[in-house]
Amino acid sequence: MLEADTLIEARWVIPVAPKGVILENTTVVVTQGRITALLPVEEARRLYAAHDVVSLPESAVLPGFVNLHSHAAMNLVRGLGADLPLMDWLTKKIWPAEGKLMSPEFVRDGSWLAGLEMAAGGVTTTSDHYFFPRSAAEGLRRAGLRCAVSGIVIGFPSAWADSDAAYLEKSEALIRDLAGDEFVHATIAPHAPYTVSDASLKRCAEISDKWGVPIHMHVNETAGEVADSLRDHGERPLERLRRCGLLNERLIAVHSVHADAGDIALMAAAKATACHCPCSNLKLASGFAPVAKFLEAGVNLGIGTDGAASNDKLDMLGETRLAAMLAKAVAQDPTAAPVHDMLEAATLGGARALHWDDEIGSIEPGKAADLFAINLATPESLPVQDPAAQILYSAGRECITHTWVAGRQIMSKAVGAQFPELNAAREAVAVAHSWQNRI
Ligand SMILES: [Zn+2]
Repeated sequence: MLEADTLIEARWVIPVAPKGVILENTTVVVTQGRITALLPVEEARRLYAAHDVVSLPESAVLPGFVNLHSHAAMNLVRGLGADLPLMDWLTKKIWPAEGKLMSPEFVRDGSWLAGLEMAAGGVTTTSDHYFFPRSAAEGLRRAGLRCAVSGIVIGFPSAWADSDAAYLEKSEALIRDLAGDEFVHATIAPHAPYTVSDASLKRCAEISDKWGVPIHMHVNETAGEVADSLRDHGERPLERLRRCGLLNERLIAVHSVHADAGDIALMAAAKATACHCPCSNLKLASGFAPVAKFLEAGVNLGIGTDGAASNDKLDMLGETRLAAMLAKAVAQDPTAAPVHDMLEAATLGGARALHWDDEIGSIEPGKAADLFAINLATPESLPVQDPAAQILYSAGRECITHTWVAGRQIMSKAVGAQFPELNAAREAVAVAHSWQNRI
């Protein structure tokens, strides 16, 4: 007998790569945190002796979601300023609260809460964008997630840094320190075109080139951003990024709501990524991203939840469902944004954007065992005719029962599970209350 740590026996496995494949009655064999084989259940039982066997006869197993854009710590300012216009929401609610609370402890605790929420919904990796990135990593790792944290650069002082030079220096130090880390990667993260100078954008490009790290940036989020860029710089935001050396295969252009045909062509040619955050775009009335056009042009697509203050859920399955529905309506074409393209965007698309797809994003032998299981034997999913379509369109994150990162179970809703989630949940409530009292 061969040895394995865990055999995950599933009714269906949707590996995402190759695209469109649905394996039936298949075991994912996990050894030392990695996927070592995908085999028919009976064959795996004959070949392998495993410490742990997880039998999921009515569930599908998929690669963990890659949340390509979050501000995890903002879970602690969730619920502030519903139904306000964007600038009122920011200036009257969010910025004052953040100004009052911002500290390493705030970011660590908020990121931990966000990590618990994400793990419960099948997210195994999140790409975060926030101040005090080392504390964000601490909180997210405590929840068991893999993460890419941000070397943030923004043109106003914060508790994290007080000048452009300080932001750039701290960000490069972060990137240097995290080089080679198995679970925590870094990005260079200029906040947005309207908050970062040309000089700092050029420095960000140099840092990205030097260290090979992704560029995690809000781009083309609102019509106002585009109009202001044309007025102040005589060029669209993406043209400005190109001039400053940031338009390349490492650019993650978060939102990309107001990308026009020229922008889409530039992004496709550069092999850049569009990170779509539909809930945030709807709640803040930013507009509708041209998702079908991105897919048609071959632009890599990822999905992000944005922060809990503008969503207000970190629900990647719900986000991807909404993304698919909106894309069809915007394109006026029900065949746009097909199921397997959207499942890919929520997993492998994000992994590609983070240049982490050699390790995560699909269920393939050799990759890390970052997975989730979703139970389809529920009233909302039965009968199961098409598991992939029903995961996207009829199931919800509450149907997700198990999450693994590098083979370690970080969330289980199984009866009698020994996972420390009950204790964690109790402590999380107390921590959240303590911050609520300080706003
Ligand atoms: Zn954002």
